[in-house]
Parts: sequence; structure tokens; C-alpha cells
Amino acid sequence: MSILDTFDLTGRTALVTGGYRGLGLAFATGLAEAGADLVIGARDGDASARAALELSERTGRRALGLALDVTDPASCEAAVQSAVEFGGSLEVLVNNAGACFHAPALDVTAQELRTVLDTNVGGVFEMSRAVARVMIPAGGGSIVNIGSMSGDIVNRPQLQPIYNASKAAVHHLTKSLAMEWAEHRIRVNAVAPGYVKTEMAPVDDPALRQRWIDDAPMQRYAMPEEIAPAVLYFAADASSFATGSVLTVDGGYTVV
Ligand code: NDP
Repeated sequence: MSILDTFDLTGRTALVTGGYRGLGLAFATGLAEAGADLVIGARDGDASARAALELSERTGRRALGLALDVTDPASCEAAVQSAVEFGGSLEVLVNNAGACFHAPALDVTAQELRTVLDTNVGGVFEMSRAVARVMIPAGGGSIVNIGSMSGDIVNRPQLQPIYNASKAAVHHLTKSLAMEWAEHRIRVNAVAPGYVKTEMAPVDDPALRQRWIDDAPMQRYAMPEEIAPAVLYFAADASSFATGSVLTVDGGYTVV
């Protein structure tokens, strides 16, 4: 087997939460290009279905789009069941869905607090538990969580205290689940991106330019496709000895 073969996902099924746009779409596309059949889930079921159709036409892989709210445990269970019925098995979960609000701590509303924690932490936990119930009897699998450099640093100038805390929680939850499920051959790892051009990150806002771009070693943001190979690495056998790892992909932002 050549080293490139260890990145091959042919015959496997992957579920990507929030996979119809932004980073999630780049992850879904990358996994499909590596041979996986894809299930995309987000609250907007129509957008998920459209993205799945386009993905299938572009990559030649089978793809299913469905409605999923990761803050609702019953919805997580239902999505995993649909994915198993669609794929016949489920080998990869990418916990990508996330929420972020910019506000100083004193202005964060109770609703924003709950939304960010329930989506970014509760969603990762409930989706991971739902797939573990399938992966354990099947003999294992790979879970890739999308954390953030915000789990390690405090971003400026925008204030996002709960988001930062939620991503630190994602990193540590990754390690906790990795330890707990290693005996079941479920590997759990995380990718921590820096600034990436998506709807969540207004990278072209001039007010953010000094801190986000000028202060960064590479002096630029990333495109979503630049983060996808790290997700593929953890999803595939290429990372067979990696679990509990958090891989930062941030253009050097957090080294300065
Ligand atoms: P986007 O806002 O572009 O996409 C977020 C996706 O998550 C959407 O598809 C959205 O669909 C889905 N989503 C949100 N809430 C839920 C929910 N409750 N249930 C299911 N799906 C949900 O964000 P990005 O692509 O930028 O971010 C993707 C991930 O990467 C997030 O976890 C984010 O924190 C992380 N990240 C992003 C960075 C960046 O610079 N962009 C940097 C570091 C990390 P819908 O609203 O229809 O549910």
C-alpha cells in the first residue's frame, strides 16, 4: 500500500454537519474526492439537499442532504440513522457545525450564550455519542471535530468570549472522548483553523484588517480548501496512530 492509499476513503461513508457552505462544504468535497460517500446535515435541509446533489454531480460519489439540528439530541440520532441507512455503514463524522456572536461579555444575551454552547459543545457531544453507538458495534471509526485557534488564544479586536470558551471545550472534549473510546477503535481528533473566508468570518472588513491580517505571519487569511486536507488526514487511515490530537492550521497566527 502506498502512502497515498492511506488517504483513500473508497467504500466509506462520512457525515459532515453544517456541510452545505463554508468550511463544511470544503470538507465534504474533499472527503468525496478521496472516495467517500457523503451525508450533509444542517438546519436548512433544502440547502443541504442542494449541496449534496451538486457534490454528487461534481465528484461522482453518492451524497445525501438532510435537515439536522445538532442542538437537538433526537435530531442527531435521526441523522445518524439516516446516514447508516444511506451508506450501509458510517465510518467518519466531521463535527463542523458552529455558531459565533461578536459582543463584549457584558452584552452577551442568555440566548446567545445558550446557542453557542449548545451548538459548539453540546452539538459535538451529542453527534459524537450518536455515531459512537453505531461505530462501537461496527468496530471503530474516525471523528474529526472542528475547533479553532480561538480555543487557544483570545481574538482581537472583536470580542467573542463564549465562542472562545466553547472552542477550548471542543479541544478538551476531543481528548476526553479519544481516551474513552480508544479501546473501541474510534479515533477522535480536532482541527483548529485560523481565519478562513466564510460567512462566519468577515475577513475583508477593513476594521479587522490590522489584527486579522497585518499582524499575522503569513499576512493573509485561508480559503476553506486549505483546511480540508487536515480533515482528510484525520478521517483516513493516514492518521491511524493519531487520537486526541488538535492540529492548528492558522498560517502561524498563534505563534506570535
Ligand atoms: P458558516 O457560518 O459559514 O457555516 C456554519 C454551518 O453550520 C452552516 O451550514 C449552518 O447551517 C450550520 N449550523 C449552524 N448551527 C447548526 C445547528 N444547530 N445544527 C446543524 N447545523 C448548524 O461557518 P464556517 O464555515 O466559517 O465554520 C465552520 C466551522 O469552522 C465552525 O465550527 C466554526 O466555528 C469553525 N471555524 C471557523 C473559522 C473561520 O474563520 N471561518 C475559524 C476557526 C474555526 P444552518 O444555519 O442551516 O444550520
